[in-house]
Amino acid sequence: MDKRWCTACGCEFLPRAQAPHQRYCAEPECQRERRRLWQQTKRRSDPDYLQNQVQAQRAWSKRNSAYWSAYRENHPEYAARNRINQRGRNAKRSTAGIAKMDASNGMPFFDDGLYELRPLEGLGFAKMVAWRVQITVLARQHL
Ligand SMILES: [Zn+2]
Repeated sequence: MDKRWCTACGCEFLPRAQAPHQRYCAEPECQRERRRLWQQTKRRSDPDYLQNQVQAQRAWSKRNSAYWSAYRENHPEYAARNRINQRGRNAKRSTAGIAKMDASNGMPFFDDGLYELRPLEGLGFAKMVAWRVQITVLARQHL
């Protein structure tokens, strides 16, 4: 078997005979990177896998509800960063989500453009699924 170079760390390694297409060396960090990329690809390409992962994470969180509060308590820098990031997401959501108001009837109207369409939480959809949609206004009708 010929020597080759690890995709993650770039070090030379000898692939195992049982894995002739091996692209990562045996270092734990490189194997973690390999699994991380595999999972990322799988989550993007397999909606069932993604759905299972989301459900498993929710179930785990439910069973271990004390975990995150303990984690936040023991990692104040994480909690602070998280608060700041969430504030940013909230601000973005409140400005991006509100369409301009039509002065004549107080109803929101939309301009042509790209929008993100996501299912409401609590309807059994995976939280992470969102569609990018192009909306073209054909006509406005005042009811
Ligand atoms: Zn490596």
